[in-house]
Amino acid sequence: MADNPGAVRCECGAAAGPLGVCVDYYHAILSEEQADPVMYRWHAPVVCAYLLQHPYRGHEKYLDGQFRQLQLLLDKGLDALLRAAAHQIARNRHGSRAGYDMEPLAAYEPLPPGGPPRDFRATFSGLPVRDGSFVADGHAAYGQHIEAVVRATVESWLSMES
Ligand SMILES: [Zn+2]
Repeated sequence: MADNPGAVRCECGAAAGPLGVCVDYYHAILSEEQADPVMYRWHAPVVCAYLLQHPYRGHEKYLDGQFRQLQLLLDKGLDALLRAAAHQIARNRHGSRAGYDMEPLAAYEPLPPGGPPRDFRATFSGLPVRDGSFVADGHAAYGQHIEAVVRATVESWLSMES
């Protein structure tokens, strides 16, 4: 059965898709969004969701902030997340005290200990790709697919608390 691609599983528990496991999808997204500014608006949620579904590939000290960013997105939308990020960049440029500004994120749940969760309802390797593109059905559809992955990521982590 080792030569059956359907049997291949990602470290996050997801079944491989036509492009491979999640890291293959992640790299394909990072490559495609470089040439597509509208698609690139979803860059931060893509990175945060990927690292929270595959936390051994990220830096543990950033995971809590990334988890809160995803909650901000679900709560207030992409524009609010982009505004918070722009505020952060401006703040760093003005040389204010070092460190991540947690204020816009302080209201959200901290990352529960004991992760990662065993599986997620929506995964990167489950994202639809048509003609080699993630936005073949339009940017609105792409945004909805990423948001579903984000929602599944937050839900699985929060369900670890009990
Ligand atoms: Zn995965």
